Amino acid sequence: MLEVVSVKRKSPVLTPSSLSCLSHIPTINLTAGCAHGCLYCYSRGYRTYPGDKRIHLYANTLEMLSEEFLRKRKLPVAVYFSPSSDLFQPVPEVLDLAYEVMQFLFARRIGVAFLTKGEIPEHHMALLRAHARLVRAQIGLTTLEADVLHAFEPNAAPAQTRLRQARDLVTAGIPTEVRLDPILPGVTDSAESVRHLCRAIAMSGVRRIALGVLFLRPAVLHSLNQHLGGSPLQRTLASHFGRAVRLCIHAERSSVMALHRDARRLIYARVSEIAQECGLEVAVCGCKNPDLGAGSCNIAGEWPSAGSLFE
Ligand code: SF4
Repeated sequence: MLEVVSVKRKSPVLTPSSLSCLSHIPTINLTAGCAHGCLYCYSRGYRTYPGDKRIHLYANTLEMLSEEFLRKRKLPVAVYFSPSSDLFQPVPEVLDLAYEVMQFLFARRIGVAFLTKGEIPEHHMALLRAHARLVRAQIGLTTLEADVLHAFEPNAAPAQTRLRQARDLVTAGIPTEVRLDPILPGVTDSAESVRHLCRAIAMSGVRRIALGVLFLRPAVLHSLNQHLGGSPLQRTLASHFGRAVRLCIHAERSSVMALHRDARRLIYARVSEIAQECGLEVAVCGCKNPDLGAGSCNIAGEWPSAGSLFE
């Protein structure tokens, strides 16, 4: 049973990100922790992580955001939801707050970019449709295999729900991509699994995908061992990470254990080839693969430059 604790946010709502593709767009988290409970979620290692089966809801977000906007000389072109939570968690309090914050931003002609693994309620979808020109969407999905999704993303939306809403977003004229991140080596990267997924994505009308392979931080490793300990899934992942290397990411601000670059390069090449056969354009996340010289995956979509957003 999930516990939702209402807390007062003390730090600013609009937060700069260390990801280079978010350097011109501020980010917002409505919660600390996330009800989707993905085992690989790197926010598990954050100081603010409230523990499994609990989220902290920043109930005063709208009030603080209004005050922050009053103090700003220049408002952002768009904001990104969310670097370490999800806008569409299956929690009524989070969904209500998400709706109010999006409404507040749209009323000021400020764009909303989001990445979600959740189910977007129809009420929220109608708001997104009504402001389609101000929306950029990414749907996170790495496989169609229900047992794998259930094991790694226990409370996220089923694959078919995510694909259906990808199609709805595309139909509404909203630039929409699917993010295959994290690809789980040995678990979701077989040619058959990737082909199945890429065909379904192409059928939804999405034309571009972004790729990233799982990397490990201590908290993620702990979570995988705790939840999957001794299972075939855990043994498969462990066998692939046997030759992991330390990699500096996010403009060298943090260090993670990653597959050797040759192993990642092979996975990206295999997935890209299949995706392109399905008519999909492919981008590899450069922030997570600085040693591969990958470009930007453009996590928040494209927006006009707004100069410095944090003055
Ligand atoms: S949906 Fe995103 S933020 Fe939420 S638990 Fe999964 S990876 Fe973390």
